[in-house]
Amino acid sequence: MLSDTIDAVATELSAQTSLQATDPEIARLIEEEERRQHDAIRLIPSENYASRAVIEATGTVLTNKYSEGYPGRRYYEGQQVIDPIETLAVERARTLFGADHANVQPYSGSVANLAVYLAFTEPGDTVMGMALPMGGHLTHGWPVSITGKWLRPVQYGVSRETGTVDFDEVRQLAHAERPKLIFCGGTAVPRTIEFDRFAEVAEEVGAVLVADIAHIAGLVAGGAHPSPVPHAPVISTTTHKTLRGPRGAMLMCREEHAAAIDKAVFPGLQGGPHDHTTAAIAVALEEALRPEFADYAHRIVDNAKALAGQLMTRGFDLVSGGTDNHLILIDLTSKGVPGKAAAQALDRAGLETNYNTVPFDPRKPFDPSGLRIGTPSVTTRGMGPDEMATIAEMIDRAVDATRAGDQSAIERVREESRELASAFSAPGIDA
Ligand SMILES: *Cc1c(COP(=O)(O)O)cnc(C)c1O
Repeated sequence: MLSDTIDAVATELSAQTSLQATDPEIARLIEEEERRQHDAIRLIPSENYASRAVIEATGTVLTNKYSEGYPGRRYYEGQQVIDPIETLAVERARTLFGADHANVQPYSGSVANLAVYLAFTEPGDTVMGMALPMGGHLTHGWPVSITGKWLRPVQYGVSRETGTVDFDEVRQLAHAERPKLIFCGGTAVPRTIEFDRFAEVAEEVGAVLVADIAHIAGLVAGGAHPSPVPHAPVISTTTHKTLRGPRGAMLMCREEHAAAIDKAVFPGLQGGPHDHTTAAIAVALEEALRPEFADYAHRIVDNAKALAGQLMTRGFDLVSGGTDNHLILIDLTSKGVPGKAAAQALDRAGLETNYNTVPFDPRKPFDPSGLRIGTPSVTTRGMGPDEMATIAEMIDRAVDATRAGDQSAIERVREESRELASAFSAPGIDA
């Protein structure tokens, strides 16, 4: 009897016990990652530092709830709290972007895009998007993606001379192939997405234009990039890149497509929404509605332009010759260092980047010629043009050291990058 009571108390206690006590191994690894994110100069353009408030919202009892359906029409009881949370997220998204309709349930950007295909196409239909090696996303019809296997994708690229979208090619392809959907936007596009020009082509051929603003959503929200809302009837975005929310995604659209989009997300593609993520999206949108966020968005672009200028001064070739947004694509060919070796050496030097194909890359995708960097994370930490000059100088030295095989030079950059990082706090991380 007594032992039963003791067991019951022990079970009760362990349910209340901290992560540290329950699973010290995972707790230690999370702490290690926190330290790493604090100490590194994080330049991967799809990453950011979510605020303490956003992170707090993700780690809550909302993870316990099931709420298939939409506010006011659910398939489970007990939605007294979830409904107002999701409604707040939806209303804030509509206000922030000026969209007719928003769906905040997609689990990620890839799934959001799948929902768009489900809403507007049948298997085998022709769809159009930017090719992955030209800067597009896997889900814009690249052959290894389900979107390339189950649909019939036609792909556009950029011009060899300018490194920007060739609208003659887009128009010609669209007229010849008559796609049902045209995706614009991408993952390695350093220039402004010309939504108005894509809309013209889409209208000419009767296609639905989908603006995938996963990378630039924060810039759009802050007025540092033109809005797709007047031009694209359907907009897809992640919430965790420049928008600085939790990992998740949203779809926005004109009223006429609202029912089709909602039905495609649920029950077409997903089961229960991740309510803890929905709450954190609502928090991120609240933050993005503040004037400080518009300032943040503009500083991201100012920093990217400053960093691009400094890199070009140091002899780096940039795809399209610069940047209009948060992202810089470096072609390392003239530096005589492959992208992967450079990215790995930079990581050892405390500068986190990713290797990337460049348009018309003669090298293979797993060891391409390019390096993709961006300024959302360093701008969140409060760095400005002076720090961009320092970072360009460190990148330059680390790339030279990679070519020369000089490990001690990499080590010296590691010390300096750690010192730079330690001068700027990182939101969501206790130093
Ligand atoms: C990041 C990204 C996605 C996919 O988002 P996930 O959340 O990683 O699935 C889709 N489209 C574009 C343009 C992206 O940059």
